[in-house]
Amino acid sequence: MASDSQLDLFGASAVPAPDAPPSATNTASSVNFDAIPLSASVPIVPGTYDSIAAMAHHCEHCQRCGLSAGRTNAVIGRGNPNAPIVIIGEAPGQTEDEQGLPFVGRSGELLEKILASVNFSTDREIYICNVAKCRPPGNRNPTPEEINACKPYFLEQLRLVNPKIILLTGATAVKATIASKQGITKIRGQWFDWQGYLCMPIFHPAYLLRNPSREAGKPKWLMWQDIQAVRRKFDELELGR
Ligand code: SF4
Repeated sequence: MASDSQLDLFGASAVPAPDAPPSATNTASSVNFDAIPLSASVPIVPGTYDSIAAMAHHCEHCQRCGLSAGRTNAVIGRGNPNAPIVIIGEAPGQTEDEQGLPFVGRSGELLEKILASVNFSTDREIYICNVAKCRPPGNRNPTPEEINACKPYFLEQLRLVNPKIILLTGATAVKATIASKQGITKIRGQWFDWQGYLCMPIFHPAYLLRNPSREAGKPKWLMWQDIQAVRRKFDELELGR
């Protein structure tokens, strides 16, 4: 990869805004509105949903945890719902809650640039979602109880998208999946096998915004190494076919 590409990765060029989320009314007719699991004690068994739209319809009305109280929109996902790569964040922030889309604003713009630097796009290879679908107040991290309440939706979402590769952005995504006790700086860039998915922890774009140096060994440089490793794995597995 040419060094120019790294400059492009962190350049200031505009990135197109993500598409709007699917309409709440765009749901499968098979959804039984009365079956919305209101309590976290009610399990959501694997295979409950036949589409992400059906799952999203339940999330919009879900009260399995206290995050429902502050919800403007349940934030489900964006990108290609049949993508070979899923990127997982932790929970919506204010802008995501308002727009109903994950990874918008400055973090989302940087993520799009990182993906574009290795010719990945949310139109083709990438689907983006969060572990928790509703915004925690004050942008705090979701609690373990909130993560556990929302995790069945997240697992259904992964089952429906059925990616080969999962990129875990930040500690909450790591805890909800590979459950490594090590910090993200220790495990980023490594491959883990979790439930048949190839998973790699990577830095969260918000962390890269707070650490702008491009020097070798710094977070942005490390992210550059990691996204190239993901591209190599994608090509090796011939996931573009
Ligand atoms: S965060 Fe998840 S479990 Fe909690 S109310 Fe929202 S959709 Fe339901």
